[in-house]
Amino acid sequence: MTAYRSVLELIGNTPLVDVSALSPNPRAHILVKLEGQNPGGSVKDRVALSMVEQAEKEGILSPGQRLVEPSSGNTGIGLALVCRMKGYRLTVVLPSNVSPERRQLLGVWGADIIDSPGSEGSNGAVRLARRLAGEHPEWAFLYQYANPANPRAHYEGTAPEIWRDCPEVTHFVAGLGTSGTLLGVGRFLKERNPDVQVWAIEPPTGEMVDGLRNLDDGYIPPIFTAGGGTELLDRKTIVKPRESIEWTRRLAELGIFAGISTGAAVAGAVRCAATIEAGTIVVVSPDGGWKYLSTGAWTDDLDVVEERARSTIYF
Ligand code: PMP
Repeated sequence: MTAYRSVLELIGNTPLVDVSALSPNPRAHILVKLEGQNPGGSVKDRVALSMVEQAEKEGILSPGQRLVEPSSGNTGIGLALVCRMKGYRLTVVLPSNVSPERRQLLGVWGADIIDSPGSEGSNGAVRLARRLAGEHPEWAFLYQYANPANPRAHYEGTAPEIWRDCPEVTHFVAGLGTSGTLLGVGRFLKERNPDVQVWAIEPPTGEMVDGLRNLDDGYIPPIFTAGGGTELLDRKTIVKPRESIEWTRRLAELGIFAGISTGAAVAGAVRCAATIEAGTIVVVSPDGGWKYLSTGAWTDDLDVVEERARSTIYF
């Protein structure tokens, strides 16, 4: 019998799926790495485990310790799973307007939730979590935006998997949120092959695509600056919310049920494919579509979907 000792051992080793059927260029292949296959349903399981294990190494965590983290979804869910398995308590600071699925998933693994004002978005959650961490010095505050264990999870996990499964990669495309994925994978791939091009996908300033941010909106994650993000990225591409939803739906036609930021990243990969002569583009799908069902993203009226996406935070 082969059996895993714990669900935590299921984190990582996600599959690459060929979606070249979407490529406008027969000589440019597109492969999607399906991070929704992680046990908590997103790429952030890797980051949650990496940050908690680093804190354990540093002696910051003791049994029953409480952690606090601002998140509007995936990191909170990943941390809730890891904390449940390791016996820590977790408070997630969550904007009041996140999708109901996210709230419920946090509850599945017993996280406590504190609401921050929905109108202040994820930056409001960050502010409140920082204040709570200041008022409760006995709580651990791992803070994914500034924690080097975030990009390291990708440098040591996501990237070597891509290199193992697809050494012919010429372009890496991912959405930019905390920037952990781009920094960790980008640096690893460029060390192996300096010709690999790294493309970041951002929403337009002032608009929302779940999980993504435009660096011109005012907040630059400390890990981006510390990791030399500006030098590392070869190109930034803006993808609009509607285009993201459209490409999420195209993926469903190929059987891939992915979240909306996957549509954004694939839209970027398709643009990349159209501009290069030939190559192999690897693109990250951060999560599956389950947490977005209440957006109505797979129903027929795209106008309604887009409108709803403006009033709710889906990341
Ligand atoms: N998409 C989704 C759905 C996410 O939750 C995140 C993380 N905020 C990202 C994309 C961006 O990943 P990263 O934080 O590594 O830049």
